[in-house]
Amino acid sequence: MSRDQRLKSNYPPSQGSQSSESGILNDSILVLLFKTIEWDVQTLCLTSLVSRKLRAIAERVLWRELCVYRAPRMVASLANGTAHGRFCGGWHALAKIMFFCCGCESTRHFKVNQPLPGHFVKAARFSKTSGRSFLSKKCRGDLLYVSDPCEHPTTGDKEDDYLGIYRGVFKGFTRSTTRASLIGRQAALEDRVRCPYCRARVWSMTTARLVPKSAARRLGSHDGGLEYFVCVNGHLHGTCWLVPLSTDEDETNGDDEDNDSDGGNIDTQTGMDVHQ
Ligand SMILES: [Zn+2]
Ligand SMILES: [Zn+2]
Repeated sequence: MSRDQRLKSNYPPSQGSQSSESGILNDSILVLLFKTIEWDVQTLCLTSLVSRKLRAIAERVLWRELCVYRAPRMVASLANGTAHGRFCGGWHALAKIMFFCCGCESTRHFKVNQPLPGHFVKAARFSKTSGRSFLSKKCRGDLLYVSDPCEHPTTGDKEDDYLGIYRGVFKGFTRSTTRASLIGRQAALEDRVRCPYCRARVWSMTTARLVPKSAARRLGSHDGGLEYFVCVNGHLHGTCWLVPLSTDEDETNGDDEDNDSDGGNIDTQTGMDVHQ
């Protein structure tokens, strides 16, 4: 019996015929199955934990299909020009960026009273217009998508403040001006912070002095309180203090600007409410 046959006969452990086992381990059938549940991200997480075989299929096919289904325009923009559909840092990391707010803990330039755990989000809006605000002037030629901040009420001293947690992703980070600037400045990789999306090492853009003023303006942050990190695979995550209660007018203006050009809404195929 070959290794593959043994794996099939071991799954599921206590039920199922040979034909049903072949079906569930067939790429095309799995793709059709997940289409019927609109690529529910938590179901895919659980599926990839069932066996090594399913995990391998998820990494080879399913995470990519989920990303394409849920954010077709953003993925087309990010993957344009990449070889054989490969994606820097992997499709699993991109899917996690789309659907998981990473929470936060205190860092060198940003202190919180207590760490906040990460959590799934139903949907989010990613925008390259927003991403441009996070790029210093000479790096504006790079393509970066950044989410709206996920708002978290705080406890303790700053009880009226909201903590904003945001995330993003570069296109082709290895060839980006941002990476070249970090290397040129001999910016050191952080010792204590890792990318929550791929576990790779990160640079603090705050430490590297590559945070433009437009980032705080875009986030609606105050006190200059923000820090963000970029990992060697081009994933961004960061935190800021938000001005309490953004106005309806601001939100409307932001929507108009982004809907015209970005297409980073991951709720477009499902009709779910946009997560703010
Ligand atoms: Zn959050
Ligand atoms: Zn990463």
